[in-house]
Amino acid sequence: MLAYRCPVTNELVEVSLKTPASKLRSLGSVQLPVWCCVCHVAHTVSAQELFVAEEVYDDRARAA
Ligand SMILES: [Zn+2]
Repeated sequence: MLAYRCPVTNELVEVSLKTPASKLRSLGSVQLPVWCCVCHVAHTVSAQELFVAEEVYDDRARAA
């Protein structure tokens, strides 16, 4: 599962994309429309702003 940080609320939002993380790295600054379940709108974020959600949980564990 991929995730990004919502530019409006700063919440972590999981997104379901068929694009693998390794492919995203090669996309760089390409803008992608992603649905935000917090704002209930679609945000446009660059591919490099998306990351594997497993990293999110690691961050939360470290912060706790
Ligand atoms: Zn949002």
